Amino acid sequence: MYEKLAKRIDGIAEELKMTRRDFHKHAETGWLEMRTASLVARKLTNLGYEVLIGADVCKDEERMGLPPQDVLDQHYQWALEHGADPEFVQNTRGGFTGVIGILRCGEGPVVAMRFDMDALGVVEAENEQHRPSREEFASMTPGMMHACGHDGHTTIGLGTAAILAEIKDQLTGTVKLIFQPAEEGVRGSHSIVEHGHLDDVDYVMGAHLMGSEDDECYICPGLAGTLATTKLDVVFKGKPAHAGVDPQLGKNAMLAAATAVMNIQAIPRHGGGDSRINVGTLHAGSGRNVVCDNAKMELEVRGETTEVNAYMEAYTLDILRGAAMMHGCTLETKKMGSAAAIECTPAFTEHIKKVCTEKLHMKYQNPGDMGGSEDFAYMTKRVIEKGGQACFTGIRIPCSAPFHNSGFDFDERALTMGVKFYTGMVWDLLGKGEN
Ligand SMILES: [Zn+2]
Repeated sequence: MYEKLAKRIDGIAEELKMTRRDFHKHAETGWLEMRTASLVARKLTNLGYEVLIGADVCKDEERMGLPPQDVLDQHYQWALEHGADPEFVQNTRGGFTGVIGILRCGEGPVVAMRFDMDALGVVEAENEQHRPSREEFASMTPGMMHACGHDGHTTIGLGTAAILAEIKDQLTGTVKLIFQPAEEGVRGSHSIVEHGHLDDVDYVMGAHLMGSEDDECYICPGLAGTLATTKLDVVFKGKPAHAGVDPQLGKNAMLAAATAVMNIQAIPRHGGGDSRINVGTLHAGSGRNVVCDNAKMELEVRGETTEVNAYMEAYTLDILRGAAMMHGCTLETKKMGSAAAIECTPAFTEHIKKVCTEKLHMKYQNPGDMGGSEDFAYMTKRVIEKGGQACFTGIRIPCSAPFHNSGFDFDERALTMGVKFYTGMVWDLLGKGEN
């Protein structure tokens, strides 16, 4: 069966390439994946999947870091004018851009797979060396670019959907394909988990494209070492006053913010693992002779474990409250994104390695540590808490530039490899009969 699947998947390589290039050309950043989500929903529906879209996927109030209403409205228009599916796009209005496809094949375990769909706020390179520009599929969305390979992830998800629909009668169990918005800035996954979509899942898998050091492709199950993180927007509000006449009547928000910055950067370290802290922006004040009444900061904390990150976050909030109190200001904080640290269950990771090398004949490489943060972690956490198994896998392929770089492009062998990986694993977990 593995060989049959591989042959079938090689047969759709060209179609996968075209799909990927279409997504690449129409890059959409977090919560704006309206065109993308509508096309995903259309395709899943045509394949016979039960499809959830809109507010049925992402819990409204748990969506973090949503763009302003006017941006959401403008982009909806853009999507309508650029080939979004007219029926499904309506459900994405206001940034409800998650899609789930469910294939029920009788009794058996529930296997979920996560594919992220969002692009980055990067302006794509325009030159002959850059293949998307040379072969005319560079992003035509102003200021947005698929520079992290999520166009590939979405395509792999749709390819997997197509192949699994073909072998539906030979599966026993349930397949859930989760197309997630807003992974960048770790904003989207939490709202899907909080909706309960992972509660009945026995196995959850996710994968991310990664750069290979040579011309080969490698499979790297057990990708971990992501940092748990919390992103906060902070506003101190004080009271303005004339700086020369009666400064004593003012409440200085800049002093509160400055006090907070210095103390947050000095949080004592936690013995449980590495941590990071960064106050990235601070904007305050309105004029030279006015006591500053408003200061806004954007900051983030990270931790090697979810506990270390929670410690950093709690300490930061205490300092913010203390600094506000010192200077008689009020404080508002808003969580703009957050992720736990990814956990892979060792037995499942070992099993994936075995299937990939022995049945799918893929080259294995040690995944190593991933470094940044990845909100797939919420899904692994929920599934493991409920007694299920989880694994995050690296698909390592040659890339033209570092990730998040304006010259980024990846070797499209990644597409068939990704579909082989997911369909092979589903066959292993849910297939009945001959192997
Ligand atoms: Zn990414």
